[in-house]
Amino acid sequence: MSQPSTVAIVGSGPIGSAYARTILEADPDARVVMFEAGPQLTAVPGESVRNIADPDEKARAREMSQGPQAGAFRESLGLPAGVAVEGMFTARQGTHLLDFGGEGSAHAPTFPAAAAATNVGGQGAHWTCAIPRPAFSEKVEFIDDAEWDELISTAEQLLHAQSAAFADSAIGTAIRSLLDDEFGAELPPGYGVGTLPVAGDPQPDGSMVWAGANTVLGPLIEAGTPESERFELRDLTLVRRIEHEGGHATGVTIEDLRTKETSFFPADVVVVAADAFRSPQLLWASGIRPRALGRYLTEHHVVITTVALDEDRMSALISDDEFEAELARRAQNAADPVAAVNRIPFSEPDHPLSLQVMYAEKPPFQLDPSHPAAGNRWGYVNMGYGVRKHPRVEDGVTFDDDELDYRGFPNMTIEYALTDAEQPELDEARARIQRAGNALGTFVAEPRLLPNGSSLHYMGTMRMGPADDGTSVADPWSRVWGFENLVVGGNALIPTANTMNPTLMSVAIAVRGARRVVEALAGSRVEEVVPGR
Ligand code: FAD
Repeated sequence: MSQPSTVAIVGSGPIGSAYARTILEADPDARVVMFEAGPQLTAVPGESVRNIADPDEKARAREMSQGPQAGAFRESLGLPAGVAVEGMFTARQGTHLLDFGGEGSAHAPTFPAAAAATNVGGQGAHWTCAIPRPAFSEKVEFIDDAEWDELISTAEQLLHAQSAAFADSAIGTAIRSLLDDEFGAELPPGYGVGTLPVAGDPQPDGSMVWAGANTVLGPLIEAGTPESERFELRDLTLVRRIEHEGGHATGVTIEDLRTKETSFFPADVVVVAADAFRSPQLLWASGIRPRALGRYLTEHHVVITTVALDEDRMSALISDDEFEAELARRAQNAADPVAAVNRIPFSEPDHPLSLQVMYAEKPPFQLDPSHPAAGNRWGYVNMGYGVRKHPRVEDGVTFDDDELDYRGFPNMTIEYALTDAEQPELDEARARIQRAGNALGTFVAEPRLLPNGSSLHYMGTMRMGPADDGTSVADPWSRVWGFENLVVGGNALIPTANTMNPTLMSVAIAVRGARRVVEALAGSRVEEVVPGR
């Protein structure tokens, strides 16, 4: 009988989870141990904190995810006691800035909003759950279309995709109608104004249970399933190093952050899905340093604004009764402010941008009560155009062996710049958001370009490529060049310039990588039982 194979996964976000699920469902002889540096936040591992109804509990879960900025949890997450963290401030709730301004902080003056989440479920416990499909040149050109479509569909199933969330919202329908009047004639068929696909499960009251890593893990965290018996998740366990010899990963060195004990964990395959900055940092710290590691950093830039919906235009499209009924239904679930999500997707050549429009009853910031749009009965939309960044070798993260960060890893410096290549599309986004705002109502915040790093969608730093020519870190099956059994996952693999939320695409890439891991494990067992082969 062959020995069970052990797969070590670094990181418990949606991507590590997609590897775990795909491998365990396809290979009854595999066992997966997942290591997560952060704490478990919810009774069900990896659940979205947006589903927590109690505001205090929700705030605590977010606080616990904030790594070096996590108050009472700071010490257990690696920041030594007594270290003053000057100028410290918290990024988007549940995340922590990489350049937090204290001792051991990364250096990212040109990418200041770069942030991460350190908790079971990763950023996937805090995400907005928008999962548009990549289109046109956003896709990976060396994966053929038929396979790509199947991978994306599988990723959609893993994430519980809803293509028509809130489709029954009369307010959402009215917003789409106004946007369609403004832009519809300019957009190609199939790429017009529509609902934004999201990840989660619609509830009978019209609200959503948002998807997290728990959704992706599925049967792995359900008691009594065969997969759950072969799956183990260890929280507060930091992977310090990938051990390897002659192009073969042998396992990982782990530190139990509760006891501070360090040990070696042997594995047949190592999967690193520890986000777009900390994954390349771990490879670097382990002496695995392909030329493209950390380079070609991209994100999609965001031009955003908030608009108060116009009473006359909205009431021409919705009856008062419909409107009141929708408000009453929503009042049953006051914990979740997002109520209708619409979009105009990316299309080429004429609309290389994507617009996302989120309706909410209240503005996302405190609006001066004397502002004419304060307390707008018809509510508000927060909307943003995503603008692509063209990959350049100059943009990226470097690691310094002589300066350690707060976790004791070679410290990061991020260098990044927008160039003339992006300016025309940024200008186009500014012009279009003005039109969209005028079509919907009155601006309550001027359109503005967010600081670099604000998208939280960091790509390219471990990009996949068709050839080992120094411009990629991984092969088309996400294996680090030169290694058969070291696999990388996450948005960092995405080699293209794009405007969409990347998690769906990264899950699709992970499914492809995981299937190849399963094939390789099966192959290695055949070699075991046929001596001499
Ligand atoms: P992560 O989810 O970041 O998980 C990586 C995990 O690895 C972390 O938990 C980290 O603690 C752990 N780790 C790091 N280093 C180590 C180590 N050495 N040892 C052990 N563990 C380690 N994406 C979308 O597509 N749509 C959206 O609408 C969207 N909205 C977002 C909104 C917010 C507020 C945030 C924060 C993110 C959003 N994202 C969105 C991004 C999305 O959450 C990420 O794309 C996704 O979580 C990436 O998954 P991942 O598994 O690669 O990494």
